[in-house]
Amino acid sequence: MMQISVTKTTTSKEKYDAAKVPFGTSFTDHMFMMEYDEGQGWHDARIVPYQSLTFDPGTMVFHYGGEIFEGLKAYRTPDGGVQMFRPQENFARMNRSAERLCLPQFDEALALEALTQLVALDADWVPSVEGQSLYIRPVMIATDIDIALHGIHKALFYIITCPVAGYYANGLQPVELLIEMEDVRAVRGGTGFAKCGGNYACATRAGEKAAAKGYSQVLWVDGVERKYVEEGGGMNVMFVMDGKLVTPELNGSILPGITRKSILEMARSWGMEVEERKVSVEELWEGCKNGTIQEAFMCGTAAVVTPIGGFAKEEEKVTVNNHEIGEVTRKIYENLTGIQWGKAEDPYGWTVKVK
Ligand SMILES: *Cc1c(COP(=O)(O)O)cnc(C)c1O
Repeated sequence: MMQISVTKTTTSKEKYDAAKVPFGTSFTDHMFMMEYDEGQGWHDARIVPYQSLTFDPGTMVFHYGGEIFEGLKAYRTPDGGVQMFRPQENFARMNRSAERLCLPQFDEALALEALTQLVALDADWVPSVEGQSLYIRPVMIATDIDIALHGIHKALFYIITCPVAGYYANGLQPVELLIEMEDVRAVRGGTGFAKCGGNYACATRAGEKAAAKGYSQVLWVDGVERKYVEEGGGMNVMFVMDGKLVTPELNGSILPGITRKSILEMARSWGMEVEERKVSVEELWEGCKNGTIQEAFMCGTAAVVTPIGGFAKEEEKVTVNNHEIGEVTRKIYENLTGIQWGKAEDPYGWTVKVK
């Protein structure tokens, strides 16, 4: 494995007051980075003081969006230790995203080693306050200085981290989603399954429209038939239908969430019936009205689980479970966060100790 050099900062930044940790705007003391050059491969793996980066305005990422990222967290455990949740899954997914965007493959074991060293070095930044964690953002960008379309020959991989509070200010409150019938997030054959900035850029307009109407997120439908449920904002969606856990099947346009995967594995281990299949908007609508849909929630790293209290299309609305958090949703939330924060046993071997 490539050597990872470490240069420590001489001027540690001031830490945030635990009561006012912002989401995603204040970063820790160090970062990891390495460069790729075709012919040479990845080189100069290093942990360095957190710093600004300088690029030529002709750098490819600014023009053609050659960018992918990941999102995961490190958690403070009750014994004062620090652990991460399934980081191998994030790096595996990042390589799949890289393949789709013609960015270079990287060594997942090296990335995990670098991440572990980085989090260990900045371990004092991992919050000890209930619900808070250290958010980790690996990124890869195309760095050729070339605005002709010649393919990617140079890239930069870096990892930055920041302390974060719980994602939603009001905690586990059920939210309402607006079913978006105009914009689509992704299509099969496109980049929906890849975690790339471009997906977010094109999702912003619908999200802002929904927010202006007072909804928390949009519910995305498929881009081909505009008939099937795909995701809720930047999260996967799940339903409890007749006691079964149902979620849209991965079809190329849905992002394969690690939270999604973990919830499905956990529910199966409890003996709960799990279905990955198409869920139409019509089935959703009728199911909310007649009670077949007992619970609905979104899931992802940032918020873990967000209960859904209702859906809206145009002027009509339906509610789920009287706008209350369901039993299954709560059980999933408590079990998953218990494992993540090291308050409960991890029978699945999902956590990776940092220190
Ligand atoms: C990252 C992401 C998710 C959730 O993935 P996790 O691995 O669970 O955090 C879901 N949908 C979209 C569009 C995403 O970008």
